[in-house]
Amino acid sequence: MTDNASANAESADSGELRELYRELILDHARNPRHFGKLVPATHHASGINPLCGDKLELYLQVDGDRIRAAAFEGSGCAISVASASLLTETVTGLTTADASAWSNRLSASLVDAANDQDGEGLGKLRALKGVREFPSRVKCATLAWRALDAALDQNETPATTE
Ligand code: ZN
Repeated sequence: MTDNASANAESADSGELRELYRELILDHARNPRHFGKLVPATHHASGINPLCGDKLELYLQVDGDRIRAAAFEGSGCAISVASASLLTETVTGLTTADASAWSNRLSASLVDAANDQDGEGLGKLRALKGVREFPSRVKCATLAWRALDAALDQNETPATTE
């Protein structure tokens, strides 16, 4: 796998960075942010990853074109919970268009290494990039973001990674 951009950025201390990201994932998995049902929510979507058994409900409170609040509940593996937690932190305060752009950027960078020209642009979400080495876990990481896309589209069909 070639990943020149991040290899250059991380060559000095890739081990430490990897450790840092692992800590970030574990922290969010153990203490998920914005966990619970959001009332009232203007947007909602379910997400299911049958391969791993991850399930979540994502809630948004959208005012005009801005996401005022985001929350989720559900259960799943550490990656899926951490990704959902990071999602709620990331999209709170963003416009819906910006939130969609984040979703696209993250999915592209996890699924397609060639598309990953801007690892820095992912901010904290770079922590999720470790899953790229484990294709089955990519679905765990993208589940919440698929639910976000569905919620923004006001699509009540559960988002699934299959
Ligand atoms: Zn999972």
